[in-house]
Amino acid sequence: MTIANTVTQLIGNTPLVRLDHVADGVEATIAVKVEYLNPGGSSKDRIAARIIDAAEREGRLRPGGVIVEPTSGNTGVGLALVAQQKGYRTIFVVPDKVSESKRAVLRAYGAEVVVTPTDVEPSDPRSYYAVSDRLAATIPGAFKPNQYSNPNGPASHYATTGPEVWNATDGEVTHFVAGIGTGGTISGTGRYLKEVSNGAVTVVGADPEGSIYSDPEHVHGYLTEGVGEDFYPAAFDRSVVDDIVQVGDAEAFAMTRRLATEEGLLVGGSSGMAVAAAIRYARDHHLPQAATVVVLAPDSGRGYLDKIFDDGWMIDHGFADVVAETSQPSLVD
Ligand code: PMP
Repeated sequence: MTIANTVTQLIGNTPLVRLDHVADGVEATIAVKVEYLNPGGSSKDRIAARIIDAAEREGRLRPGGVIVEPTSGNTGVGLALVAQQKGYRTIFVVPDKVSESKRAVLRAYGAEVVVTPTDVEPSDPRSYYAVSDRLAATIPGAFKPNQYSNPNGPASHYATTGPEVWNATDGEVTHFVAGIGTGGTISGTGRYLKEVSNGAVTVVGADPEGSIYSDPEHVHGYLTEGVGEDFYPAAFDRSVVDDIVQVGDAEAFAMTRRLATEEGLLVGGSSGMAVAAAIRYARDHHLPQAATVVVLAPDSGRGYLDKIFDDGWMIDHGFADVVAETSQPSLVD
């Protein structure tokens, strides 16, 4: 019998697929780890499972408990599905730049969603950090996972994503590329791959233009969701990362659209960003045929149908060139 007892047992063990068309001119193998095949649709299911297990073990989450977290969506989905299976309620605080469709997904899992303004300082009482702190302090039995500082985030990737990449490539992986949000993915996976390969695997971060990681002097707003920060989270271990490649919104969104139309991979903007970074890195470093570059694609494009995949939205946000470059001529008069 291979019937899972609960949906949480379906987390992880996501497949790798080789890129063909979009990696034109690159000799190395570029393989994408397709994290939208997790049951909640993103890599964040992994951290949710481990964070909740650890909180139960440590007595920070007890029967009747409520999970309160500021999250841009994916972590919420992961936490919501693991929490409901274990009988906990969930409240998520999200900035208003997060699309209505993402919020609707959280509600569909039975979570409560509180929307806060994006354009305020983290110290502002209306900020999503402040609102979630207040809720966590006042609701009885509340537990705030804090994915930015919770060591179980990187630990989940050390325990699952890292070994999966190593085993699926029979230890042939030479480079690992991932976007950096909390830094959990790259820190945990990168640390495992470096340890198991005795330092032979090169770990490359992908970062949006405007984020602190690649250019602390020029922090500004950008539209790629889930990656980049304006502060250094504790979940991010910079020492694991060998190089950081900066990718602008236009390049990230163009690659996101090409992955859907040319590779059949409907992924989110941070996946397009990571793939664009991997391809540029492979080209710039003339990586040979023997190199195997694994890129982690965190989530599905379904959450961005009204943004990156909507020509009107793209044009309104200054990406008319990207639309022209990535659209196919109509076959219908
Ligand atoms: N992409 C998306 C869409 C995400 O939601 C996240 C998580 N914030 C990331 C990338 C980055 O992953 P991490 O937090 O592990 O650095």
